[in-house]
Amino acid sequence: MSFSVYLTNWSSPGLRGPGDPFGIMRRPRSFEVEASAGTVRNLCPAAVDLDDMRAGRIEIEEYRRRFESGVARIGLAPGELVYVGTDGKMGTVLDGDSLLCACSVAAALLGRCHRTYAAGLLAAAGWSVVVDGYRLEPCSAGPCEGCGGRGWTGEHPYLNPSQRSLI
Ligand SMILES: [Zn+2]
Ligand SMILES: [Zn+2]
Repeated sequence: MSFSVYLTNWSSPGLRGPGDPFGIMRRPRSFEVEASAGTVRNLCPAAVDLDDMRAGRIEIEEYRRRFESGVARIGLAPGELVYVGTDGKMGTVLDGDSLLCACSVAAALLGRCHRTYAAGLLAAAGWSVVVDGYRLEPCSAGPCEGCGGRGWTGEHPYLNPSQRSLI
């Protein structure tokens, strides 16, 4: 059985999955908190990294490197990814749920949003991921030559540098 998770923004309902919406934002606005079923804290960016990126103190690749090194790899797999609900109770993200932030689809496709990086990590951890309409599938051989060491296959304008001409 494959477990699908969908990553996009709050304002793109057509790109979400059929399940519950969870936030992956460090500083969500109140309406985003109210619209969510909870927050997946392991996939929220660090405040200092967000600030450095927005102020132009670091390049986007450094922002990505910091995010990827900050995410705990334990607990990323289907059945293990934990959210904290708006009622404070913990649960696991299920097949069909969505992980949402506020960045535009255009920015995310250019790699200027951490949900794009999170998508690669989740696919490598065993999820079938749909990020802004692009599907990534876990590579059955794990990180290997065939998948370029990513641990997943699929096309994405930013995550596969060879596909960057798509945008
Ligand atoms: Zn974002
Ligand atoms: Zn592989």
